[in-house]
Amino acid sequence: MPQSPFADLPDTTGHFGRFGGQRIPAELKRVMDEIDAAYEEIRVREDFRQELADLFADYVGRPSPIFHARRLSEQLGGAQIHLKREDLNHTGAHKINHCLGEALLAKFMGKTKVIAETGAGQHGVALATACALVGIPCEIHMGQVDIEKEHPNVTKMKILGADLVAVTRGTATLKDAVDSAFEEYLKDPQQYIYAIGSVVGPHPFPKMVRDFQSIIGREAREQFQARHGRLPDHVAACVGGGSNAIGMFTAFLEDDEVRLVGIEPAGEGLDTPRHSATLTLGKPGEIHGMACYVLEDAEGQPMPVHSIASGLDYPGVGPQHSYLKEQGRVDYVSATDDECLEAFLTLSRVEGIIPALESAHAVAWAMRTAPTLSADQHILVNLSGRGDKDADYVAARLGL
Ligand SMILES: *Cc1c(COP(=O)(O)O)cnc(C)c1O
Repeated sequence: MPQSPFADLPDTTGHFGRFGGQRIPAELKRVMDEIDAAYEEIRVREDFRQELADLFADYVGRPSPIFHARRLSEQLGGAQIHLKREDLNHTGAHKINHCLGEALLAKFMGKTKVIAETGAGQHGVALATACALVGIPCEIHMGQVDIEKEHPNVTKMKILGADLVAVTRGTATLKDAVDSAFEEYLKDPQQYIYAIGSVVGPHPFPKMVRDFQSIIGREAREQFQARHGRLPDHVAACVGGGSNAIGMFTAFLEDDEVRLVGIEPAGEGLDTPRHSATLTLGKPGEIHGMACYVLEDAEGQPMPVHSIASGLDYPGVGPQHSYLKEQGRVDYVSATDDECLEAFLTLSRVEGIIPALESAHAVAWAMRTAPTLSADQHILVNLSGRGDKDADYVAARLGL
């Protein structure tokens, strides 16, 4: 068989083609290389694999099922839509998959504290959960503005025992929380570990987080094959940093007959500055220690980005997605805030499933695409999370 262009990436320097790497100071490189060495050691160890597999089964509730959205498919009149139900995971989304991996790694390395930032609080809650389970202190930095907006998640993190640091500098939102968390980490990178919340940041994080999330696609490929005796024609997932999408896509990269589609947030429109469609409209650059597609303003600064889904508004994107775009293996498209809201409400009312606003972007693409295909075609959508967190916001916005 010819060597696949996707096998064995990243290379030993953490590159996916020209993307990824470690665009960080030398002393941090040493720490990242230690993390990589520890990860490569436990990754192949039977006791670690078994512990993670047991937690996935007994704690997260894996395997998550695939649900055939029959009524939605019928209503749209075209391809069959299937949902990989990551929304049914403990804590309500895919993020728990890599947070458990990161917490176990931190414990293995003898780290005394896990540090992270959170925007809407989803990563914070998943990480606080994993740290409570593993028994390791956890410190979450969050902008004061976000703290006031995301009350339920703030409460959950406190109940779970995390130390919540309110960040009041600058605009008191996600970017300031990242700066604050990173400063705390740099005080003692030997003792602490910074738990990144997606397939972004310096090597080895894009690789590690992908590996922990790849359980999604491994399960889905097997489940679909077992039920239908074939693979789906289209596999779709929303892309913020890109962790749920790469977790789904990895199992299908070698299946040329499967079209892979990543859906970015077009916000209020690609012709406005109010979007976060990094792969669609950005260009190659650097952000947060990696080379990847970036949305920049005229001065070369990361653009202020927008999406109705706070988990998708990031001006960078995972380096592997940047690579897969250039290789032409994955199509990156977008859905607007309005399309997302429509999909959110439709899936809720036709199937009784309230999706996360992030995941609703992928559902919106499926709803747009299904009618253009025949009824014997199959679309598999990764439903990355549930929409409890978004229910009040959507109800207020739509005047329900
Ligand atoms: C955080 C989040 C996302 C976006 O993150 P990715 O790394 O792009 O997957 C998507 N869906 C849900 C439900 C989330 O919580």
